[in-house]
Amino acid sequence: MPTVGEIVEMAERGLDRSDAVYLMREADVFALAKAAEELTRKYYGDVVTFVNNVVMNYSNICVAKCPICAFYRPPGHSEGYVRRPQEVAAIVERLAEERGVTELHINGGFNPLLTPEYFDELFREVKRRAPRVTIKGPTMAEVDYYARLWRMSRREVLSRWKEAGLDAISGGGAEIFAEDVRRVVAPHKISGEEWLEIAELAHKMGIPSNATMLYGHVEREEHVVDHIFRVKELQERTGGLLLFIPVKFNPENTELKAKGVVTRPAPSIYDVKVVAIARLILKDKLKVAAYWLSVGKKLASTLLLAGANDLVGTMYNEAVLRAAGAKHSASVEELAAIAKEVGRRPALRDTFHRVLAYL
Ligand code: SF4
Repeated sequence: MPTVGEIVEMAERGLDRSDAVYLMREADVFALAKAAEELTRKYYGDVVTFVNNVVMNYSNICVAKCPICAFYRPPGHSEGYVRRPQEVAAIVERLAEERGVTELHINGGFNPLLTPEYFDELFREVKRRAPRVTIKGPTMAEVDYYARLWRMSRREVLSRWKEAGLDAISGGGAEIFAEDVRRVVAPHKISGEEWLEIAELAHKMGIPSNATMLYGHVEREEHVVDHIFRVKELQERTGGLLLFIPVKFNPENTELKAKGVVTRPAPSIYDVKVVAIARLILKDKLKVAAYWLSVGKKLASTLLLAGANDLVGTMYNEAVLRAAGAKHSASVEELAAIAKEVGRRPALRDTFHRVLAYL
């Protein structure tokens, strides 16, 4: 089994896909994590960043019917909703004032009833009421869906959204790029190749984005490795990626669980391997996230010892304003504590990863 030193040396020389698959399968998980941590410290020091943000969905109505999704409701469903732009803007304004949020993260589904004017108003209204808040918006998959719905090019959709106030694109919808896995987890979404094409287009138009990877369902190590390599290659072409976010699949209330395809979340040891291999492949090209919302706050701090150096964000939602419990959000202090408990220096950043304050 390779030692920590050997793994670091291999990564410094540059892994190819088969090296990375070999390391994920055969290397000792602690050695892999330690090697990833060494590279993280070398390239990024001991700082762990996150943004103070609010997460909202403009609509939960979606026609894509992804078997991994517990969120969507089909058109006509009694629990379907579309948020009024004024309502979204009022919540963002209040959270900016009361909690100091600097980013709105907003996604929705593929809603056939929404018009270009709806999004114009949504982004403009947020900018009018909370001008200092950046808008990180719909995914590449939504760009493609609305382009087809409105009979526009993807470029036209992106440029209209940018004009209305969109600052960056969220990294969702990437899932796993490999088509054989994608056919199982997101059969009606754009292909992996299309996701990468839209991201490249957006980056070239001056709209940066994140890239996610949904893991822990039916994929194998080679799919994870291939996905991360394609993220790296995109970054080498455009430099427009801000953060790589591995997202752990939670099968609860999804079709994949109902059909018995995935019965339980992946083991924690696999989370560590995914984050570590991401760092060993991406090295200094891109920050890697410990996405506490998908792995839990405790494991997130462990992942900061395995190659991750960003905690994504506070992910406030409106439940915070109602003081109705915030199971799915964290305060700035809580995230800072996650970093500090493993000896890291927490820092608040903006959407574009400029440090605003050390905590
Ligand atoms: S496109 Fe998004 S919202 Fe729609 S079903 Fe798929 S994951 Fe859910």
